[in-house]
Amino acid sequence: PLTTTDLIEEHRICVCVRARPLNKKELSTKDLDVITIPSKDVVMVHEPKQKVDLTRYLENQTFRFDYAFDDSTTNEMVYRFTARPLVETIFERGMATCFAYGQTGSGKTHTMGGDFSGKNQDCSKGIYALAAREVFVMLGKPNYKKLDLQVFATFFEIYSGKVFDLLNRKAKLRVLEDGKQQVQVVGLQEREVRCTEDVLRLIEVGNSCRTSGQTSANAHSSRSHAVFQIILRRRGKMHGKFSLIDLAGNERGADTSSADRQTRLEGAEINKSLLALKECIRALGRNKPHTPFRASKLTQVLRDSFIGENSRTCMIATISPGMASCENTLNTLRYANRTK
Ligand code: ADP
Ligand code: MG
Repeated sequence: PLTTTDLIEEHRICVCVRARPLNKKELSTKDLDVITIPSKDVVMVHEPKQKVDLTRYLENQTFRFDYAFDDSTTNEMVYRFTARPLVETIFERGMATCFAYGQTGSGKTHTMGGDFSGKNQDCSKGIYALAAREVFVMLGKPNYKKLDLQVFATFFEIYSGKVFDLLNRKAKLRVLEDGKQQVQVVGLQEREVRCTEDVLRLIEVGNSCRTSGQTSANAHSSRSHAVFQIILRRRGKMHGKFSLIDLAGNERGADTSSADRQTRLEGAEINKSLLALKECIRALGRNKPHTPFRASKLTQVLRDSFIGENSRTCMIATISPGMASCENTLNTLRYANRTK
């Protein structure tokens, strides 16, 4: 298992994979586990260990990432290797982003937002909350205390290329770019937060706003990107920003055959934004002067996080362990592989 001595110091882009356990539904349909994580940075997709009549032949495939987290890994542990090293970046006047990427149902929201499956919704164990807690710990350190920083949070959603404020009853917001390529989400609520509890309250507000008025909560959230940001300000000026993003489900390729025009358009929009995201992360990793951020609303609003000397990013690719999901799983692993 991973220990903190495995932590890779200083890299601009960290790409890792997280497999969740088989869930009740998969167990009830006798789906079989096709994922093995044999070491701390390798994931294998293979035929089920049990002998079964396979309708489809699954070729063994191995992928290597910065880290591979198996189904016994806690959110706290995932956090320690992914988002936590980025918290310092924003105190050092940098920009940080952390993405959860994967198929619907693979564990993106569980990883980022916390557990919303049961009746007792608990967002205190998600990466949003864990990162926020760390920010307040860091604020108390002598080095940073003297900077007199203030902390703010925003929470918004990008759905079909449009931005909605989750802290302001889903108000639809415009995105403007000025002559200097500065991108601004006009009217986005930026709430000051003074402690972790303040942040937890905002996450709850945002999450309930995200799903309200929808017949099926997951149907909607799977089609939108949720962006939660922690912003440090010094005398009103931005000092650093951490954007934590629960991306739309990446399985939308299949929607291109859907009869429903709206669904097809949504699918095309999601594909476009995920492709643009990959290109922007690659550009960041290669120190390219040009970041193709205009290709989607998602990358446009994150523009300032993809440029600059002190920008770091982390991608957590979440995968479902079942045979039934293997096509999506392979797509997720290939995508994650190519961001680096
Ligand atoms: P997504 O946001 O990618 O659609 P969710 O985070 O909603 O997926 O996860 C789907 C279900 O699987 C939820 O019930 C969630 O609680 C559960 N789940 C996800 N990841 C894990 C994990 N690592 N351990 C246990 N349960 C998990
Ligand atoms: Mg989700």
